[in-house]
Amino acid sequence: MPELLSVKEAQKLILAAFEPLPAVSVELPRAAARILAEDMRATTDLPPFANSSMDGFAVIASDLERMPARLQVIADIPAGIVPAVSIRQGQAARVMTGAPIPDGANAVVPIENTDLERNQVADPPPAVVNILRPVRSGDFIRPRGQDLHKDTVFLKKGRRLQPQDIGLLASLGFYNIPVYARPRVALLVTGNELVHPSEPLAPGKIRDANSFILSGLVEKSGGEVVSLGVAPDDPAVIRERLETAAEQQVDLILTSAGVSVGAFDFVRSVILENGALTFWQVNMRPGKPLAFGSYRGIPLVGLPGNPVSAYAGFLVFILPVLRKMAGYLETNPTYQKAFLAQEVESDGRESYLRAIITNRNNRLEAVLSGHQGSGNIYALVQANALLILPSGVKSLPVGSELQCLFLDDDIG
Ligand code: AMP
Ligand code: MG
Repeated sequence: MPELLSVKEAQKLILAAFEPLPAVSVELPRAAARILAEDMRATTDLPPFANSSMDGFAVIASDLERMPARLQVIADIPAGIVPAVSIRQGQAARVMTGAPIPDGANAVVPIENTDLERNQVADPPPAVVNILRPVRSGDFIRPRGQDLHKDTVFLKKGRRLQPQDIGLLASLGFYNIPVYARPRVALLVTGNELVHPSEPLAPGKIRDANSFILSGLVEKSGGEVVSLGVAPDDPAVIRERLETAAEQQVDLILTSAGVSVGAFDFVRSVILENGALTFWQVNMRPGKPLAFGSYRGIPLVGLPGNPVSAYAGFLVFILPVLRKMAGYLETNPTYQKAFLAQEVESDGRESYLRAIITNRNNRLEAVLSGHQGSGNIYALVQANALLILPSGVKSLPVGSELQCLFLDDDIG
């Protein structure tokens, strides 16, 4: 029997079939979690003008050499108003936080350092204020450009936009934001035995879990699901659904089940009628029956039916693809190193074991989360990581160092 394709080779073949999608423009409120498609350059300084960082009085610092200093209050400047005054020797203007600094002033004295009480801040300004503590030139002023200078590239292409990024874009007056289009992923779940979770179970049937696992993963990875529903193991129905996917011009077709060597595994044969398969098995556990090819020119990945196999197949092969199409600079999730706290065994395929990894004295220690059967979703739910046993390894003792993939919020 020819040697099975390695996980790494399969990953490479799949990833090479995709390119980043074109840029689209979305309005600012919908830009969060999208991937920036261009470097963003500041069109103004931030802050755009010198302003007060405290409620207090704008003064000339050299007026405050002797304490207390008595200054004439010539203006009252709230945030949002440009002062029409210029401060001269012996003068001050009351300023609120965020108010522009009037010409002539070079420092702000916080209200706490004057003879006014904090609770008098809402009263009309006094004609005269006594300053109790001196300030140095520049104190309590946020100078123009303190945070960011005009023409600085402040966000780079490939950045996944965070709420604070949206705030900065807003501050700089960007409203139509260039982001990568979201990959559209057609999802076809197959199997005669499948029952919708809202329906009672008939004898011999099981409830469809993969529709929910896979659509959740697609959305979490920045993709949009185009649902092709659940099809029975019937070539005519599977063909009709794949044709729908082709008409919709999706970026990727994902199928679940029907790609192994069983008598009712029709997905593979239907693909071959109007497409091609590059491979249909990978040296992976769980997830050996995994097909890659195209249907009417659209890349297609056929995931295995066992829910844990489908899940692992998605993380290993589909997540990087969606990230690449979505414009991520780094398409691979971050792998970490963990040490075995129990002996583990596998069959020599590259194995993705469901594990619970805990941090003990800055050392990540792994135990298995339950039975490793590829249909066992509960053991997956209990796991916080997949632990990767390299191919060719059948058992490893306590203390062995392995790569792992944390199933955190970013991933699955
Ligand atoms: P197959 O890939 O068709 O050989 O299916 C492998 C195993 O996965 C079988 O035990 C199926 O019953 C199970 N299976 C297939 N599809 C699903 C699904 N959508 N949800 C849960 N289990 C499934
Ligand atoms: Mg089946």
